[in-house]
Amino acid sequence: MEAIRVIEQQLQLLQQQGLQRRLRVADTPCAPRMRVDGRDLLAFCSNDYLGLAAHPAVVQALQEGAALYGAGSGASHLISGHSRAHARLEERLGALLAPHLEQPRAMYFGSGFLANQAMLGALATIHPGHDTELFSEELNHASLIDGARLSRARITIYPHNDVAALASLLAASSAKSKIVVTDSVYSMDGELAPLPALLALCEQHGAWLVVDDAHGFGTLGASGCGALEHFALRSPHLVYMGTLGKAAGVGGAFVAAHASVIELLLQRGRAYIYTTAAAPALAHALLTSIDIINGAEGMALRAHLQQLVAQIKTDLRLPHWQLLPSMTAVQPLVIGANQAAVQASVQLHAQGFWVPAIRPPTVAAGTARLRITLSAAHTTAQVASLIEAVNTLAAQAEADSEAVTA
Ligand SMILES: *Cc1c(COP(=O)(O)O)cnc(C)c1O
Repeated sequence: MEAIRVIEQQLQLLQQQGLQRRLRVADTPCAPRMRVDGRDLLAFCSNDYLGLAAHPAVVQALQEGAALYGAGSGASHLISGHSRAHARLEERLGALLAPHLEQPRAMYFGSGFLANQAMLGALATIHPGHDTELFSEELNHASLIDGARLSRARITIYPHNDVAALASLLAASSAKSKIVVTDSVYSMDGELAPLPALLALCEQHGAWLVVDDAHGFGTLGASGCGALEHFALRSPHLVYMGTLGKAAGVGGAFVAAHASVIELLLQRGRAYIYTTAAAPALAHALLTSIDIINGAEGMALRAHLQQLVAQIKTDLRLPHWQLLPSMTAVQPLVIGANQAAVQASVQLHAQGFWVPAIRPPTVAAGTARLRITLSAAHTTAQVASLIEAVNTLAAQAEADSEAVTA
């Protein structure tokens, strides 16, 4: 068939450009030590920042949830799939975000991708005629980009981290409804968005500030409540999205906002209404996961994670490559060319380390990188072994480039 041949040509092109993605199959739980495609690896790639994905208490809660509620929800939330576990989780999350929102309420989704679609879609319908302008940060996650497109709002992309540019764009907008959308932690840079300045602007211009805290919830803030706690923000202009498959270790996501916003989501969030509710057992397990995040154990896990971040910053020796200035668990090492980043990832893999190479279009052309993610489940010895391997590779790359120049 002709179309198959065209597809194969395109796939070949991806391979030639060093852009082909491939799956690896894991036979063990998400943890620092994993067995992947038959090999034992030390993994620095998951978003399981606190090591809760394989935490015995969370696993036990998942089993208990299955015993209590069965394997699946059987229907969408509004038909018959909304269990007591979902309701309790939403109450808990609403209470957790209460210091940062007015009349807070939370809604649980099967994934962050769905949550962003439902939320942006519903927010864009607030005013009759849907006169909405959505201001989207340049580095926003794919789920926010797609959610914005699906919302059919007018989309204006503002330059990365450029609060002044956003201020002029907001001032120039005559839309009835203005929505600023940003990641709290840029997922491929690890850096924090200037949320206090963004919120001040939104309050000044009567705009919503939608914060996607996928990489902040559980890891930022004294009690793990995320970016709003980290920056001590509180405002009725805030709409918060946190994911529960990353630091929380289980799966799904939630939106927390003023109760009326959440009620609007229930009425108009198509990605909520028309999908089967996630298994109640997941919600049940998440209650345990959130207890851990919010308690003394979570605090100790975050302190250890910060130690590992400091260790990598102090001990990496990089003559050529650049470690980005991130204080989060996401520690990207920019190498530049696609093939060079892939080669570094392959060389590390040969030595038993699993560190993914991230290439365009996920990041800008010429900034292909290793995305090292740290977890509180890593030991300092494990991080030291990665640092040693990367230092050796970086010195080798430097020597090679000098040989070429000479
Ligand atoms: C992972 C991620 C999402 C999607 O969340 P899932 O629960 O994995 O679907 C959304 N936004 C950002 C910034 C993310 O990193």
